[in-house]
Amino acid sequence: MEKGKRIGAVILAGGQGKRMNSPVQKQYMMLAGRPVITYALEVFSCLQVDEIVLVVGAGELEYVREQILKPYGPFKVTAVTEGGRERYHSVYEGLKALSSCDYVLIHDGARPLISEDIILRAIRGAVAHEACAVGMPVKDTIKVIDTEGFAAETPDRSLLWQIQTPQAFSYPLIRQAYEKIMSDEKLQSNITDDAMIVEKWTSRKVKMIEGSYENLKVTTPDDLVLAEALLQRKT
Ligand code: C5P
Repeated sequence: MEKGKRIGAVILAGGQGKRMNSPVQKQYMMLAGRPVITYALEVFSCLQVDEIVLVVGAGELEYVREQILKPYGPFKVTAVTEGGRERYHSVYEGLKALSSCDYVLIHDGARPLISEDIILRAIRGAVAHEACAVGMPVKDTIKVIDTEGFAAETPDRSLLWQIQTPQAFSYPLIRQAYEKIMSDEKLQSNITDDAMIVEKWTSRKVKMIEGSYENLKVTTPDDLVLAEALLQRKT
Protein backbone atom coordinates (compact mmCIF):
# COMPACT_ATOMS: atom_id res chain seq x y z
CA MET A 1 0.00 0.00 0.00
CA GLU A 2 1.17 3.54 -0.73
CA LYS A 3 2.45 5.12 2.47
CA GLY A 4 1.19 8.62 3.24
CA LYS A 5 -1.54 8.54 0.60
CA ARG A 6 -5.05 9.43 1.70
CA ILE A 7 -7.85 7.05 0.82
CA GLY A 8 -11.44 8.30 0.73
CA ALA A 9 -14.68 6.44 0.14
CA VAL A 10 -18.00 7.59 -1.28
CA ILE A 11 -20.81 5.31 -0.13
CA LEU A 12 -24.07 5.73 -2.01
CA ALA A 13 -27.44 5.55 -0.30
CA GLY A 14 -29.35 8.08 -2.38
CA GLY A 15 -31.44 5.72 -4.50
CA GLN A 16 -35.19 5.23 -4.32
CA GLY A 17 -35.09 1.43 -4.67
CA LYS A 18 -38.26 1.16 -6.79
CA ARG A 19 -37.65 -2.55 -7.50
CA MET A 20 -37.97 -3.35 -3.79
CA ASN A 21 -41.70 -2.42 -3.64
CA SER A 22 -41.24 -1.18 -0.10
CA PRO A 23 -41.94 2.21 1.54
CA VAL A 24 -38.48 1.97 3.17
CA GLN A 25 -35.54 2.34 0.75
CA LYS A 26 -33.50 -0.84 0.33
CA GLN A 27 -30.41 0.64 1.99
CA TYR A 28 -32.35 1.30 5.23
CA MET A 29 -34.26 -2.01 5.39
CA MET A 30 -33.34 -4.35 8.23
CA LEU A 31 -30.95 -7.19 7.43
CA ALA A 32 -30.12 -9.63 10.24
CA GLY A 33 -31.09 -7.02 12.83
CA ARG A 34 -29.37 -3.95 11.33
CA PRO A 35 -30.07 -1.54 8.46
CA VAL A 36 -28.47 -2.71 5.19
CA ILE A 37 -26.29 0.43 4.87
CA THR A 38 -24.55 -0.16 8.23
CA TYR A 39 -22.70 -3.23 6.86
CA ALA A 40 -20.85 -1.27 4.18
CA LEU A 41 -20.22 1.61 6.60
CA GLU A 42 -18.64 -0.79 9.08
CA VAL A 43 -16.38 -2.56 6.60
CA PHE A 44 -15.26 0.71 5.01
CA SER A 45 -14.39 2.08 8.45
CA CYS A 46 -11.37 -0.25 8.32
CA LEU A 47 -7.80 0.85 8.86
CA GLN A 48 -6.98 1.53 5.22
CA VAL A 49 -9.75 4.08 4.63
CA ASP A 50 -9.23 7.60 6.03
CA GLU A 51 -12.64 9.14 5.44
CA ILE A 52 -16.12 8.26 4.22
CA VAL A 53 -18.68 10.53 2.58
CA LEU A 54 -22.16 9.07 2.81
CA VAL A 55 -24.54 10.21 0.06
CA VAL A 56 -28.24 10.07 0.95
CA GLY A 57 -31.53 11.01 -0.68
CA ALA A 58 -33.08 14.48 -0.61
CA GLY A 59 -34.50 15.28 2.84
CA GLU A 60 -32.86 12.27 4.52
CA LEU A 61 -29.91 13.95 6.28
CA GLU A 62 -31.58 14.17 9.68
CA TYR A 63 -33.00 10.63 9.49
CA VAL A 64 -29.62 9.15 8.59
CA ARG A 65 -27.74 11.05 11.32
CA GLU A 66 -30.25 10.18 14.04
CA GLN A 67 -31.47 6.72 13.03
CA ILE A 68 -28.40 5.20 11.38
CA LEU A 69 -25.12 6.90 12.29
CA LYS A 70 -25.78 7.58 15.98
CA PRO A 71 -27.27 4.24 17.02
CA TYR A 72 -25.11 1.95 14.84
CA GLY A 73 -21.78 3.87 14.68
CA PRO A 74 -19.09 4.88 15.16
CA PHE A 75 -18.08 4.91 11.49
CA LYS A 76 -15.41 6.98 9.72
CA VAL A 77 -18.09 9.19 8.16
CA THR A 78 -16.78 12.76 7.85
CA ALA A 79 -19.68 14.15 5.80
CA VAL A 80 -23.24 13.24 4.90
CA THR A 81 -24.48 14.89 1.74
CA GLU A 82 -27.60 14.82 -0.42
CA GLY A 83 -27.35 13.03 -3.75
CA GLY A 84 -29.16 13.69 -6.99
CA ARG A 85 -31.61 12.28 -9.53
CA GLU A 86 -29.37 9.58 -11.05
CA ARG A 87 -26.61 7.54 -9.45
CA TYR A 88 -23.91 9.57 -11.22
CA HIS A 89 -25.35 12.83 -9.79
CA SER A 90 -24.99 11.29 -6.33
CA VAL A 91 -21.41 10.18 -6.99
CA TYR A 92 -20.51 13.70 -8.13
CA GLU A 93 -21.90 15.19 -4.91
CA GLY A 94 -19.90 12.62 -2.92
CA LEU A 95 -16.66 13.38 -4.76
CA LYS A 96 -17.08 17.10 -4.07
CA ALA A 97 -17.71 16.49 -0.36
CA LEU A 98 -14.46 14.56 0.22
CA SER A 99 -11.69 16.64 1.78
CA SER A 100 -8.41 15.90 0.03
CA CYS A 101 -7.80 12.34 -1.08
CA ASP A 102 -5.27 10.72 -3.36
CA TYR A 103 -7.50 7.73 -4.11
CA VAL A 104 -11.24 7.21 -3.81
CA LEU A 105 -13.36 4.08 -3.57
CA ILE A 106 -16.95 4.41 -4.78
CA HIS A 107 -19.36 1.85 -3.35
CA ASP A 108 -23.08 1.05 -3.54
CA GLY A 109 -24.45 1.19 -0.01
CA ALA A 110 -26.84 -1.54 -1.08
CA ARG A 111 -23.96 -4.08 -1.20
CA PRO A 112 -23.70 -5.22 2.43
CA LEU A 113 -21.50 -8.28 1.78
CA ILE A 114 -18.42 -6.29 0.90
CA SER A 115 -15.27 -7.52 2.65
CA GLU A 116 -12.06 -5.87 3.82
CA ASP A 117 -10.12 -8.15 1.42
CA ILE A 118 -11.99 -6.77 -1.59
CA ILE A 119 -11.43 -3.20 -0.38
CA LEU A 120 -7.71 -3.91 -0.10
CA ARG A 121 -7.57 -5.40 -3.60
CA ALA A 122 -9.42 -2.37 -4.98
CA ILE A 123 -7.04 0.08 -3.28
CA ARG A 124 -4.05 -1.84 -4.65
CA GLY A 125 -5.67 -1.79 -8.09
CA ALA A 126 -6.15 1.98 -7.96
CA VAL A 127 -2.56 2.54 -6.81
CA ALA A 128 -1.18 0.32 -9.59
CA HIS A 129 -3.51 1.31 -12.47
CA GLU A 130 -5.21 4.60 -11.47
CA ALA A 131 -8.62 3.03 -12.19
CA CYS A 132 -10.12 -0.34 -11.34
CA ALA A 133 -13.50 -1.98 -10.91
CA VAL A 134 -14.40 -5.03 -8.89
CA GLY A 135 -16.35 -7.75 -10.67
CA MET A 136 -16.62 -11.47 -11.43
CA PRO A 137 -16.75 -13.57 -14.60
CA VAL A 138 -20.39 -14.17 -15.60
CA LYS A 139 -21.77 -17.64 -14.98
CA ASP A 140 -24.69 -17.43 -17.41
CA THR A 141 -24.68 -16.96 -21.15
CA ILE A 142 -25.48 -13.33 -21.94
CA LYS A 143 -27.41 -12.27 -25.03
CA VAL A 144 -27.80 -8.87 -26.59
CA ILE A 145 -31.42 -8.51 -27.68
CA ASP A 146 -33.06 -6.34 -30.31
CA THR A 147 -35.92 -3.94 -29.64
CA GLU A 148 -38.48 -6.68 -30.48
CA GLY A 149 -37.05 -9.00 -27.80
CA PHE A 150 -35.20 -11.39 -30.16
CA ALA A 151 -31.63 -12.54 -29.60
CA ALA A 152 -29.36 -10.36 -31.72
CA GLU A 153 -25.92 -11.46 -30.52
CA THR A 154 -24.23 -13.89 -28.11
CA PRO A 155 -20.93 -12.39 -26.90
CA ASP A 156 -18.08 -14.77 -26.00
CA ARG A 157 -18.76 -15.63 -22.36
CA SER A 158 -15.09 -16.02 -21.50
CA LEU A 159 -14.68 -12.25 -22.01
CA LEU A 160 -17.69 -11.14 -19.98
CA TRP A 161 -17.64 -9.94 -16.37
CA GLN A 162 -20.46 -8.73 -14.17
CA ILE A 163 -19.42 -5.51 -12.52
CA GLN A 164 -19.79 -4.73 -8.86
CA THR A 165 -18.50 -2.06 -6.52
CA PRO A 166 -16.24 -0.78 -5.09
CA GLN A 167 -14.64 0.88 -8.06
CA ALA A 168 -11.46 2.71 -7.12
CA PHE A 169 -9.64 5.57 -8.81
CA SER A 170 -6.95 8.15 -8.49
CA TYR A 171 -8.97 11.09 -7.17
CA PRO A 172 -7.80 13.66 -9.76
CA LEU A 173 -8.58 11.22 -12.62
CA ILE A 174 -12.16 10.46 -11.58
CA ARG A 175 -12.86 14.06 -10.55
CA GLN A 176 -11.74 15.37 -13.95
CA ALA A 177 -13.77 12.72 -15.77
CA TYR A 178 -16.85 13.67 -13.73
CA GLU A 179 -16.29 17.40 -14.32
CA LYS A 180 -16.31 16.66 -18.03
CA ILE A 181 -19.61 14.77 -18.10
CA MET A 182 -21.32 17.08 -15.62
CA SER A 183 -20.48 20.09 -17.80
CA ASP A 184 -22.37 18.69 -20.78
CA GLU A 185 -25.79 17.01 -20.53
CA LYS A 186 -25.29 15.35 -23.92
CA LEU A 187 -22.60 13.12 -22.35
CA GLN A 188 -24.94 11.89 -19.64
CA SER A 189 -26.87 8.98 -21.14
CA ASN A 190 -26.95 5.42 -19.77
CA ILE A 191 -24.28 5.90 -17.12
CA THR A 192 -24.57 2.87 -14.86
CA ASP A 193 -21.13 2.80 -13.25
CA ASP A 194 -18.10 4.99 -12.68
CA ALA A 195 -15.59 2.92 -14.61
CA MET A 196 -17.43 3.62 -17.88
CA ILE A 197 -16.89 7.35 -17.38
CA VAL A 198 -13.14 6.76 -17.17
CA GLU A 199 -13.26 4.31 -20.12
CA LYS A 200 -15.10 6.79 -22.31
CA TRP A 201 -13.76 10.18 -21.32
CA THR A 202 -10.13 9.61 -20.32
CA SER A 203 -7.20 7.79 -21.91
CA ARG A 204 -6.86 5.46 -18.87
CA LYS A 205 -7.76 1.79 -19.04
CA VAL A 206 -9.77 0.34 -16.18
CA LYS A 207 -8.30 -2.78 -14.59
CA MET A 208 -10.73 -5.51 -13.54
CA ILE A 209 -10.23 -6.80 -10.01
CA GLU A 210 -11.76 -9.98 -8.63
CA GLY A 211 -14.64 -9.35 -6.20
CA SER A 212 -16.87 -12.14 -4.99
CA TYR A 213 -20.15 -13.71 -6.10
CA GLU A 214 -21.39 -12.96 -2.59
CA ASN A 215 -20.96 -9.21 -3.10
CA LEU A 216 -24.52 -8.85 -4.33
CA LYS A 217 -26.56 -5.68 -4.58
CA VAL A 218 -29.75 -5.81 -2.56
CA THR A 219 -32.24 -4.84 -5.26
CA THR A 220 -35.33 -7.05 -4.89
CA PRO A 221 -36.92 -8.74 -1.82
CA ASP A 222 -35.27 -12.06 -2.84
CA ASP A 223 -31.85 -10.45 -2.49
CA LEU A 224 -32.55 -9.66 1.17
CA VAL A 225 -33.25 -13.33 1.89
CA LEU A 226 -30.08 -14.35 0.07
CA ALA A 227 -27.96 -11.69 1.80
CA GLU A 228 -29.23 -12.80 5.21
CA ALA A 229 -28.33 -16.43 4.49
CA LEU A 230 -24.86 -15.44 3.29
CA LEU A 231 -24.28 -13.24 6.35
CA GLN A 232 -25.28 -16.07 8.66
CA ARG A 233 -22.84 -18.41 6.94
CA LYS A 234 -20.02 -15.91 7.65
CA THR A 235 -20.64 -15.79 11.42
O1 C5P B 1 -30.14 2.02 -8.58
P1 C5P B 1 -28.92 1.18 -8.33
O2 C5P B 1 -29.30 -0.14 -7.74
O3 C5P B 1 -27.98 1.06 -9.47
O4 C5P B 1 -28.16 1.93 -7.18
C1 C5P B 1 -26.87 1.58 -6.77
C2 C5P B 1 -26.50 2.42 -5.56
O5 C5P B 1 -26.53 3.80 -5.91
C3 C5P B 1 -27.46 2.24 -4.37
O6 C5P B 1 -26.69 2.11 -3.20
C4 C5P B 1 -28.29 3.51 -4.39
O7 C5P B 1 -28.71 3.92 -3.10
C5 C5P B 1 -27.33 4.53 -5.00
N1 C5P B 1 -28.00 5.63 -5.73
C6 C5P B 1 -27.78 6.94 -5.31
N2 C5P B 1 -28.42 7.97 -5.97
C7 C5P B 1 -29.25 7.75 -7.00
C8 C5P B 1 -29.47 6.41 -7.43
C9 C5P B 1 -28.83 5.37 -6.78
O8 C5P B 1 -27.02 7.17 -4.36
N3 C5P B 1 -29.86 8.78 -7.59
